[in-house]
Amino acid sequence: MNVIPPQRAGTIAESAGVADRSGWCPIDPVSFESRLQPGIHVIGDAAIAGAMPKSAFAANAQAKACAAAVAALLAGRAPAQPKLINTCYSLVAPDYGISIAGVYSPRNGLLADVEGAGGVSAADAPPETRALEATYAEDWFKTITDEVFT
Ligand SMILES: Cc1cc2nc3c(=O)[nH]c(=O)nc-3n(C[C@H](O)[C@H](O)[C@H](O)COP(=O)(O)OP(=O)(O)OC[C@H]3O[C@@H](n4cnc5c(N)ncnc54)[C@H](O)[C@@H]3O)c2cc1C
Repeated sequence: MNVIPPQRAGTIAESAGVADRSGWCPIDPVSFESRLQPGIHVIGDAAIAGAMPKSAFAANAQAKACAAAVAALLAGRAPAQPKLINTCYSLVAPDYGISIAGVYSPRNGLLADVEGAGGVSAADAPPETRALEATYAEDWFKTITDEVFT
């Protein structure tokens, strides 16, 4: 059995007034600015990011787009429309990787799927492709931990 309790943004989000009644934080999908508290930007799991899944890959991509948006706003410019990528890898065995990928851009006030982009690993891929995906997974993990912690 895998018990998953009800989830919501951290208490700090509620205290700051950026979480709505759902427990998550509505944001502008271009700047990641809170729709409830101007001047506060919310990224990652706490944010209501439309079709974009809650993942470390997504949080990292949102952080970069948000930083660029904040820099633009501070310089008095309009932030650029971001295109954000998410890929989630699963290592089924040490040399057997599979993945799901998506590309997202702002539409109708949320981050929406870019049609025709992304997808899942082909079900009939040969072992060499699975082995290659396993290396992509390892490389992604190394890249994100380097970016976050060094
Ligand atoms: C079992 C599991 C497996 C996963 N596997 C993957 C995967 O393979 N690939 C992938 O991309 N994603 C994966 N994820 C999802 C990924 O971990 C999250 O989406 C990601 O960590 C979200 O990052 P975040 O910075 O938004 O939030 P968090 O990582 O939750 O960071 C929030 C931080 O804020 C801190 N904090 C809270 N309140 C305060 C406060 N008042 N003051 C200071 N600090 C505070 C918390 O301690 C925490 O460190 C997995 C998640 C789980 C649970």
